[in-house]
Amino acid sequence: MILMKDIIREGHPTLTKVAQPVKMPVTLEDRNIAFSLLQYVMNSQDDEIAEKYGLRPGVGLAAPQINVSKRMFAMHVYDVDGELYSMIVVNPKINSRSSDMVFLNGGEGCLSVDRKTDGITPRHKSISFEAYIFDIKSNSFVLSHGTLSGYPATVFQHEYDHLDGIMYTTKLYVDIPNAKPLFEEEELM
Ligand code: ZN
Repeated sequence: MILMKDIIREGHPTLTKVAQPVKMPVTLEDRNIAFSLLQYVMNSQDDEIAEKYGLRPGVGLAAPQINVSKRMFAMHVYDVDGELYSMIVVNPKINSRSSDMVFLNGGEGCLSVDRKTDGITPRHKSISFEAYIFDIKSNSFVLSHGTLSGYPATVFQHEYDHLDGIMYTTKLYVDIPNAKPLFEEEELM
């Protein structure tokens, strides 16, 4: 199981490297790594487990963050309407991006960044992607196409950036003209 000590922090060279595609079909070793990414994120959102193991809560984790320079990540995030977006994503491609831009209120965070950062990060409001997504029914990674918008799309783009060696800390702005906050004030209360 992944613990905080397994997560590399900013300054580590792997975090700024472009990760390699995962060889298909997914090997047992890669599959175990992919599963462990999702398991970390889920564990980190469970108060009891998080406290027991000292896990910082997160909504996504990419393989490069555990020093595995391969193109895969996991996300486990609830949208404002309560819908869960839980995915293990291998070799993703973002095929289109909306011109509408958004930013996460108060700025983003990252399990590989220990300090508090100032600024907001522009993200496309919606994206369409293709990726090998783990499918429970067939117990395998299946080439899938999907679209995401709002918060899950922002998480996807943050994790996808990790695969290209891009940290959100290189995309911090005081103000982004024409970008809207992801959440309305009342949704945050
Ligand atoms: Zn991150």
